[in-house]
Parts: sequence; C-alpha cells; structure tokens
Amino acid sequence: MHDETLAIHGGYTPDSTRAVAVPIYQTVAHDFIDADHAGDIMDLQTPGFHYNRLNNPTVDVLEQRITALEGGTAAMAVGSGAAAVSMSVLNLVSAGDNFVSVPQLYGATYTYFAHVLPTLGVQVRFAADDQPESIGALIDERTKAVFCETVGNPAGNVIDLAAVADVAHAAGVPVIADNTVATPFLLKPVEHGADVVIHSLTKFIGGHGTTMGGIVVDGGTFPWSEHPERFRAFLEPEPAFHGVSYADDFPNAPYVTRCKTIGLRNTGSVLSPFNAFLHLQGLETLAVRLPRHEANSRAVAEYLVQDPRVSWVSFLGLPDNPYHELGRRYLGGHVPSIMTFGVHGGHEAGIAMFNSVKLFKRLLNMGDAKSLITHPASTTHRQLKTHELEAAGISPDMVRLSVGLEHPDDLIEDLDQALAASVASSSTVSAR
Ligand code: PLP
Repeated sequence: MHDETLAIHGGYTPDSTRAVAVPIYQTVAHDFIDADHAGDIMDLQTPGFHYNRLNNPTVDVLEQRITALEGGTAAMAVGSGAAAVSMSVLNLVSAGDNFVSVPQLYGATYTYFAHVLPTLGVQVRFAADDQPESIGALIDERTKAVFCETVGNPAGNVIDLAAVADVAHAAGVPVIADNTVATPFLLKPVEHGADVVIHSLTKFIGGHGTTMGGIVVDGGTFPWSEHPERFRAFLEPEPAFHGVSYADDFPNAPYVTRCKTIGLRNTGSVLSPFNAFLHLQGLETLAVRLPRHEANSRAVAEYLVQDPRVSWVSFLGLPDNPYHELGRRYLGGHVPSIMTFGVHGGHEAGIAMFNSVKLFKRLLNMGDAKSLITHPASTTHRQLKTHELEAAGISPDMVRLSVGLEHPDDLIEDLDQALAASVASSSTVSAR
C-alpha cells in the first residue's frame, strides 16, 4: 500500500461494531478468559492486551500505522517526544556507557544529554559537527549508540544518514534517528541505515497543536547477537522480565520489546488512548498538509531572502543552503516548513521581530496548522551556554518560523509589518 493509504487505514481492522473511526478504548485493563490466557498474554506469547500502561488497542493502531510508514517491525508510543528521546537511549545504556550525538539537537534533548544523563553515569559525547568522521572518531567499546536528528531543529542541517550509519555499523553500534522534522512522508531513516527511529508526534503528525505524544520505532535491522559483549542486555536472560533473551525470543523487534517491557513498564510514560486517537486523526491528513506547508514556506522564504531588512535566511529550499544537496538526496526535493533567519540589528532586532508579529503565534512548537515563531536563544535553547548555542547552530539574532497552512499573503503581510516594527525598535535602541 502507498503511504497516503497506510496513513488512513494502516493497522486498523474494525471489530463487530464496524466502527469506521478507530475507537477510543478508554479502559485500564482487559478481562482475561482464564489464568492460562492471562499468562500467555503477560508473557507476550499470544497477542492481546492486559494493562494499559503497557498496551492499549487504540494506541496499538497508532503504533502499527507509524511502524508501517517507517518501514520498521514494531513501535512503542509514549506520552511525549521527550519520553521517546529518553526511552530510546535508556534502552541501551547503563552507568559507565556512552553514546555519540551530533550537536545540532532540539534544546531539551541537548540539555538532557549534556546535563542530566551524566548524573546517571552516562557520558554523551558530542561530535564537533554532523560529519560521519567526526562521529566515528568518538566511538569506543563502551559506545552504545549514535544519536542524530535527520533534519536538525532548529539548525535545519540534513544528516548524511547512510554515511553515518556506515561508520556506526562498522564499529558495531546502532543509529537512533529523530525524524520529527522530516516525518516519514519526506524521509524514511530505516531505508538509509537507521536502526531506531523516534518522533515527537506533537509536531507535524498530530499537526494541530492539540496533543503531546512520542513514538519509538524498531527498524528490526540491528544484529544484536553479533555484538554480544556490547549488547549483553539483549542476549542474556533478563531478570526484570522472567528471564527472556530479547534477541532470541523476540527476533522481529528485540529493541522495542525491551523498551516496552523494561522502559515503559517501569517508567510509565504511557500515551493515553484519547491522545493516540488525536494523533491518528492528524496522521490521516498529513499527506495533504505537507505540500501546503511546503508551498507556504517557499513563498515566505522567497519573500524574506529579497528583503533588505533581513540579514540572512536559512531554508533548505534555497539553492545556496549548504544542506540543499543532501536535502535533495534524502528528502526527494521536498523541504520541511521550518526556517530560520536574522534581522539587521542582531539579538535586539530578533526579539523585536518575535514581539511584533500579529498572526504568527509566539510559542514553543512546530508543525502546527497555525504559523509559529520562536526566538530560540531566549526560549527553547535559553539554558544553553554561548559555546553550546554555537555548536547547536543557534545565533543570538536567530528567529525560527514554522510555516503553517494559512494563506501565504497573510503570512507575508504579518512578517512585513513585524520587520518594520523590529527595524524601528532597533534604530531607537541604537540612537539611545
Ligand atoms: N525531538 C524534536 C526534534 C523536537 O523538536 C522536539 C520538541 O520540539 C522533541 C523531540 C520533544 O518533543 P515533545 O515536545 O513532544 O516532548
């Protein structure tokens, strides 16, 4: 089936009610037939549901649908994208281990890696940049993963995923790719060598700024058994789940099975059935929303790039963008509707721009039907120090737009008046 069809029908077979919409199973638990039935379900020997911290029929449809779109083998939905990030790495590391990350990350991901995981004895080694050789140079025998965003938020860099995967796999290490910005409609990381794909569903997939959510997808590709020293937890009997060996007992999706039975079961970062339903609603129209997001963002970028009040524009769709060629290769010539730019007048002008919009919403999200604006250095990335901001590709004047689905002329009119206000305010500041 094509992606457009999978996004509407994937993973759902109506029950006897023949309900056309995926029902919201607002229940905590499911009635066992008898003790044998209970045991088989709890041992994951037979399909079924027991307790909704671990599995729920509405959430299950979402997991199956995203699995199909990403070309993986199984998925685990969670309560937010941040939960997907943390669970994806915690599934691999113990105290004393490390993993390697690109520096261009969403702000909360960077903070978690740089300042929280080290307190648990997990070292996150930030590569100098997103180049495969910089990443490969940091891998050693205690490295458990390479982490990247396929398209960095807000840096807008596109990872050369196949080259990064080659370097990681040569060292026996899996690649975790955060595909939030691209979505599986623009890029399928598993096809390019990623072993685990994660998303914040909160963004383009939910698509309407209503619902938090995240998901971790097992590509089913990584040969855990070939690296028994590095990945003992996948091979040796698991004491916290009646002695299973994930690689042997669940060969189709060992990574996500462990993530559910150890991570989700113990941290409880569960996605509610109602929120799963809302993400399914969003997913149904993603294929038709993305081209409109793209067309609007191209119109906005073309407007900004010719405006003398704008000092620079970073947008994948512009031919002079350093990642334009990688974008063409990995995103099939399409572009996500995220862009950054600077206004003459630096940091103050960026803040004034942020303060002056009337139609764009000033908030911390992206991928909404509504157009959004942020000033990363004072919002999403405000906890980063100057050198961390530089490594993450964030300058003090940077303004980020997530271009929505309104009429492009209205968006441009709003930016035009905000630019005028920002220039006026920064000339007042410099005249003082
Ligand atoms: N990953 C990326 C690339 C993001 O942009 C975000 C949030 O903006 C997250 C993860 C975290 O997602 P959530 O806000 O749903 O927790």
